Amino acid sequence: MIEIKGFLETSFLDWPGKLCSVLFFPFCNFRCPYCHNHSLVFHPEQYSTIPLEDVLARLHSLRSWIDGVCLTGGEPTFHVDLPLLLQEIKRHGFLIKLDTNGSNPRMLKNLIEGGEVDFVSMDVKAPLNPFHYSRATGFCINLKPILESIEILKRGEVEYEFRMTVVPGLHREEDILTLGGQLRVGRKFILQNFSPENPLNPSLKNIVPYDPKVLKEIEKEVQEIV
Ligand code: SF4
Repeated sequence: MIEIKGFLETSFLDWPGKLCSVLFFPFCNFRCPYCHNHSLVFHPEQYSTIPLEDVLARLHSLRSWIDGVCLTGGEPTFHVDLPLLLQEIKRHGFLIKLDTNGSNPRMLKNLIEGGEVDFVSMDVKAPLNPFHYSRATGFCINLKPILESIEILKRGEVEYEFRMTVVPGLHREEDILTLGGQLRVGRKFILQNFSPENPLNPSLKNIVPYDPKVLKEIEKEVQEIV
């Protein structure tokens, strides 16, 4: 069974406009140089596995506070039995937000069609071409599943957002605008600043993130593209 490697009881940051609990899952098929969860990706054995029964018991005690549960990682859809876990959490009456890198469109489609997720946040890494996407994900990538996941979400059968972590040096302003033009989802395209604190590629520790005001301006501009 899929292992839960982290449990944050409450967060205002992980689901727009909602207070949620957050579950963390191990492993990922990408190697983004700016990944700050890389210990969960490469060395999940460092973390104890939290029994699902314990998580469910705690979720029940938080029920009157939280709006739902966010599943993040690592990459949750890396695990073939994620749907079973989602069904179990749903059975207990909680709304679910899924964070994904979009690499498993088949699972994403099935989860949406089965009504097992209520909100999906898909990380988009770079303009949608093999060179930029491979550079941002750390290996030679096949874009087809990413494009499929984007199309699945844009059908609008579930609430969604596309989220890009912006890393100076890796992403120029024109790259962000290019991606915005490819997505054309207006305010559903969210930019977030890169944190140099603990990146997978240590050389990125020296990168200075965008000025938040500048990033907000770029986000405003890119959200006007529909
Ligand atoms: S997709 Fe997310 S978890 Fe996976 S390597 Fe990239 S940043 Fe890390």
